[in-house]
Amino acid sequence: MPNERDGRQLQLSIDDAPCAARPGSTVLETLSRAGMHLPQLCHDPRLTPRGVCRLCLVHLDGQERPVPACTTLVRDGMSVRVRTPELESMRHMVLEEFAWRYPADAVARAPEKPLHQAFHAYGVLGELRGDRDPALIDDSHPYLHVDLNQCIECYRCVRICDELQGQFVWRILNRGARTRVAPDGGKSLRESSCVGCGACADSCPTGAIEDRTLLSAALPSTWTRTTCPYCGVGCELDVGARDGRIVNIKPTRDAPVNKGHLCVKGRYAFGYLRSSDRVTTPLIREGGRWLDASWSEAIGHVAEELARIKKEHGPDALAVLGSARATNEENYVAQKFARVVLGTNNVDCCARVCHAPSAAALKAMLGTGAATNSFDDIERARCILICGANATENHPVVGARIKQAALRGARLVVIDPRRIELADHAEVHLQPRPGTNVPLFNAMAHTLLAEGLVDRAFLAERVDGVEELRSFLATWTPERAAQLCGVDAEAIRRAARVYATHAPAMSFHGLGLTEHVQGTESVMALVNLALLTGNLGKPGAGVNPLRGQNNVQGSAHMGCEPANLTGYVPLEQARERFEKAWSSPLPRTRGLDLMEMSDAARDRRLHALWAIGYDVLLTNPDERATREAFSAMDLVVVQDLFLNETARELGHVFLPVSASYEKDGTFMNAERRVQRVRQAVEPPSGVKTDWAIVCEVAAAMGHAKGFAFQSAEEIWDEVRSVWTAGAGLSYRRLEPSGLQWPCPAEDHPGTQVLHQGAFAIGPRASLRRIEFKPTPEATTAEFPFVLITGRTLYQFNAGTMTGRTRNLELRPRDVLAMSPADAARLGLREGARIRIRSRHGETALPVSIDDRVAPGQLFATFHTVEAFLNRVTSDQRDALTNTPEYKVTAVALQSEA
Ligand code: SF4
Repeated sequence: MPNERDGRQLQLSIDDAPCAARPGSTVLETLSRAGMHLPQLCHDPRLTPRGVCRLCLVHLDGQERPVPACTTLVRDGMSVRVRTPELESMRHMVLEEFAWRYPADAVARAPEKPLHQAFHAYGVLGELRGDRDPALIDDSHPYLHVDLNQCIECYRCVRICDELQGQFVWRILNRGARTRVAPDGGKSLRESSCVGCGACADSCPTGAIEDRTLLSAALPSTWTRTTCPYCGVGCELDVGARDGRIVNIKPTRDAPVNKGHLCVKGRYAFGYLRSSDRVTTPLIREGGRWLDASWSEAIGHVAEELARIKKEHGPDALAVLGSARATNEENYVAQKFARVVLGTNNVDCCARVCHAPSAAALKAMLGTGAATNSFDDIERARCILICGANATENHPVVGARIKQAALRGARLVVIDPRRIELADHAEVHLQPRPGTNVPLFNAMAHTLLAEGLVDRAFLAERVDGVEELRSFLATWTPERAAQLCGVDAEAIRRAARVYATHAPAMSFHGLGLTEHVQGTESVMALVNLALLTGNLGKPGAGVNPLRGQNNVQGSAHMGCEPANLTGYVPLEQARERFEKAWSSPLPRTRGLDLMEMSDAARDRRLHALWAIGYDVLLTNPDERATREAFSAMDLVVVQDLFLNETARELGHVFLPVSASYEKDGTFMNAERRVQRVRQAVEPPSGVKTDWAIVCEVAAAMGHAKGFAFQSAEEIWDEVRSVWTAGAGLSYRRLEPSGLQWPCPAEDHPGTQVLHQGAFAIGPRASLRRIEFKPTPEATTAEFPFVLITGRTLYQFNAGTMTGRTRNLELRPRDVLAMSPADAARLGLREGARIRIRSRHGETALPVSIDDRVAPGQLFATFHTVEAFLNRVTSDQRDALTNTPEYKVTAVALQSEA
């Protein structure tokens, strides 16, 4: 019997013509591959085929009744009849049945819809007789328009919401002639549990559920495949544009990362591009006022000021911040500029405030500071351990894939102080007190060793330090950890057992692990669990940081890191190689990271900061300290789409830039995949790309030669020449969906799973013994609550982009979530404004009563300037990487009169 592996094809005939088919494919797929397109209304390749619309019926020789092509698998020697008069007449009848109740004007509005094309192809357009019942129209959602007058009950919306997103919003109500679909909650879509992913609209074959942008604009005239500008999942998008504007975005169907799915940000949050406050002219502040400047004035001013400060205070009085919002090429140029033109290693990026601990821990223990596995391992894992990561809100497409894996039987273990959505699908949910991840992982490791749940062969072959760890962990019983963490000891044992006995098991972690004083050590303790159970170097396993921003992995990897050069190689290891490549000596002094830049600014050791795509003031913790530090600078250059808070309050020069939809380049996602960013629309006149600006300043400072790039690809080719593990990632090879590094040569296929056979650090990795060091940010009688900060599904970081879209209607403001018990005790109602006071400052937020939050804890989002949550966050930092401890601040609450 031929099968897929041996590459043999099945032979069949279609309407008497011979046809080859792949084993395991359906008749419909085979027809489609052969260029025969049957109408299909209930079928979507992303869904389990149902075969209910009866349009793809075919005859098989030897069978009396026709069968649906979408549910029938091909067999060798099969003879298929597709276009017989009888079948065509049946198709005509099916369409006639739809036509008598279908609104005639719908076809003219959207002729491209599959049903409308079928009406056209089968000549039933003249039979459309339906009226529109206004009661069947739901116009409540900012992005989705629902008109059930056009519903043909194919239930693709119901099925795609269940099978792809796992949200179960659309329900089938009533029976017989009264059957209709409706969102849950019994009211409007806006009031339902819809998360705005748009999958229903994307799948709907009639336009009954439709993107509002398509109703108000003509169809796109161009489509460009590119990569989402938001989170580190790195979904691929097809961007539809017309007359220079984006009018629609659809998920790329064959994208390996998102497999035809998107979340509400990637799909709909592009309105910021045309926001009326987009800055399109360089600005220089004089006498407290922003004045328009020409590009040559602005570039000249920045170059002169940087040169002056360097001369007066030395190169280490200058600093550059790269950006997760910028491409790899732009980050590469920014760090090269800092080192070659300014002569300083003071260069960092926003990885400092998120996953620097993950990179440091993974690099130190395994040799590569990045995720060990791929998103495709979600479907291979038998257990998924999710630690401090609210994936369904912050990495929604990965969250949906994890949810689907759980629905299909994978075991979930969730470690999170809040009862996040994935906890509803978990076999075990541990809710440790914030800041106690290390004792929790130690106790899990204790259980693995005490109960013999380790992979002995893997330990013998690849791991050192087992006996030392065993003796260190002897006292780390679950009972001891339970006291510190506030969780049940037996639940800790259960979590360890589920993780160890369902191999392969993969872990994902987020900022709930890293943004702590023991952030790096928390990740190390998690790596211990993977090493003990042999869950490294194999598919379906590994330790995988969910990177928060689209290119945060890339910005640090390109060298926007004080101690590491492009490729995340330590500066001293690669100094000679880079000096040769860049024809320039590299600075010898130790560079400052982002938090140290703040310290140095406070101490008047730092005099100039060039911040690319990062809102320092709104994003750094302890706003008072940040403001004080940077307000005394001689020069703050801000490069962004909009005047952000740093520019408004501290900036001297503002340089306006192109957004990712307006330029070319690459991003690097959380699974080490380098993907193309392709220009979909022209930028507004007056802005430049981040890389072009940096190169022009370099030229103005006498370094034209090393910065004479003409295109993003030219920069990328230089990146590949200095980054050995990325040498094979040419733009040509990144078509269509990118490759995962290491990819050291043009004929290398890329690497889905790291550390197979040996670790990057060597044949053996060492377990770490990690003592618990509690955060000094303790609760007291004066500050009795622990405040945790984080993102929400609808907004993104400092809100620069999502805050200028209709996502604001879905999530208009930041809120302070508190447990019902605490709200009752304090006599607080939903929406009541409350002052939040910490040792560092205060702010005010409306209360949201939320049973996902544990008593004694609070959770707040940080997206808006009005809330300015970093007025209260703590100044504590991870001991090894300086990443701020955003996840633990002791606060007091006081009702606002
Ligand atoms: Fe974009 Fe992340 Fe949403 Fe994907 S999951 S569409 S990458 S924000």
